[in-house]
Amino acid sequence: VNRAACVFCAIAAGDERGSIVHEDEAAFVLMDIAPVTPGHALVIPKRHADRLAQLDETTGGRLFALGMRAARALRSSGLRCDGVNLFLADGAAAGQDVFHVHLHVIPRFGGDGVRVSAGRSRPERTELDRIAALLRSAWDV
Ligand SMILES: [Zn+2]
Repeated sequence: VNRAACVFCAIAAGDERGSIVHEDEAAFVLMDIAPVTPGHALVIPKRHADRLAQLDETTGGRLFALGMRAARALRSSGLRCDGVNLFLADGAAAGQDVFHVHLHVIPRFGGDGVRVSAGRSRPERTELDRIAALLRSAWDV
């Protein structure tokens, strides 16, 4: 991957500056440059993967573990943090902006102005069962 083409690879390589919280052999945690709330952090695998499907499950598990650690640190940091959202956008349609997998860790508090909302539907059980069957048939693909 061309480091110039991927900001997270450039940060991982030390070619670009980042406000690093944690770094290990698999991943690093840094501050988002456009935070939703103060303390908004990103957990990023060191090895480039455009999409979740390109990430091995061990690294994916490591990202989630670091997200849990970041959430715990945020709650103990003195920053306003009464709750946390973990958010991962996989694909442009899901709102992915940088095409190197990253997990958002977003501190939340009452009145923070952040909205996570969508209209919800109430499908019949037969419809839920039909969709569950579709997913089962795709499970090991
Ligand atoms: Zn990258």
